[in-house]
Amino acid sequence: MAAIQFLNVGKRYSEGHDALIGVDFTLESGEMAFLTGHSGAGKSTLLKLIMLMERASRGHVLVGDEDLGALPRRLVSWHRRRIGVVLQNHQLLFDRSVFANVVMPLEIAGYAPEDAARRVRAALDKVGLLNREKHNPITLSSGEQQRVGIARAIVHKPQVLLADEPTGNLDPELSEGVMRLFEQFNRIGTTVLIASHDLSLIHRMRKRTLVLKNGRLVSGV
Ligand code: ADP
Ligand code: ADP
Repeated sequence: MAAIQFLNVGKRYSEGHDALIGVDFTLESGEMAFLTGHSGAGKSTLLKLIMLMERASRGHVLVGDEDLGALPRRLVSWHRRRIGVVLQNHQLLFDRSVFANVVMPLEIAGYAPEDAARRVRAALDKVGLLNREKHNPITLSSGEQQRVGIARAIVHKPQVLLADEPTGNLDPELSEGVMRLFEQFNRIGTTVLIASHDLSLIHRMRKRTLVLKNGRLVSGV
C-alpha cells in the first residue's frame, strides 16, 4: 500500500514562484527514503504539502487513502496526528522538562495522563534518554536535544515520520546516531522521509534517494 503519493504536484507561492513542478512519486508503506537537492530546490515545500502546512497548487497529494486536496477541514488535525515531524531546530520549549516537551502531542490528542506517561517513557527509552525526563532540555547537549525532538515526533506512533534537515546542527557521529534511530522506527513499520543535503551521510545509508532540482524530481522516482 502507498503511504504517500504525489500525482503531478505543483506548488506556486503567491509571489508567483514555482517551488514544485510536476512532482510524481510514491512512497510505499514501510519505506524509508531521503529527499535531497540544492538549497531552494523545494525539499521543505514538499514536506509541508504532506503535513498540510501548505496546499498544492495543482495535482494531488495522497497520504494513505486520503487525497489531501479533498480532506474536510475538520479532519486536518486528525491528519496531522498521523504524521510525526522532526525539524533541524527541534523547537523544544525551554520553560519545561524533557517529559513535558515529549508529552505535548499526547495532551493535544487527549490521552489519559497515565497512558500518556507510559508512552512518553517508552519514547524516551527508545532514544536513550529515560534518565533525563526531569531535566530542562536547555541543559542537554545538541545531540540529546535532537533526540528529545525525535521522541516527541514518535510518541504518538505516527504512520509517517518526516524530518527536515534533522542532522543540520550535529557532527557526523551524532548524525549517524540519529539516522540509526530513524532506521529503528522504520523497522517497526513507520514510513520515513528525510530531507537532507548531507550527501555523504545519505550515501552511507544506502536508501532510496529522491533528488529535487529547481522544483522538479530529477532522480529516485
Ligand atoms: P529547500 O527546502 O529545498 O531549500 P524550499 O522548499 O524551502 O526549498 O523553497 C523552494 C523555493 O520556494 C525557494 O525558491 C524558496 O525561496 C521558495 N519559497 C519557500 N517558501 C516560500 C514562501 N512561503 N513564499 C514564497 N516563496 C517561498
Ligand atoms: P490539475 O488537473 O490542474 O492538476 P486538479 O484537478 O488535480 O488540478 O486539482 C484542482 C485544484 O484542487 C488545484 O488547483 C488545487 O488548488 C486543488 N488541489 C488539488 N490537490 C490538492 C492538494 N493535495 N491539496 C490542496 N489543494 C489541492
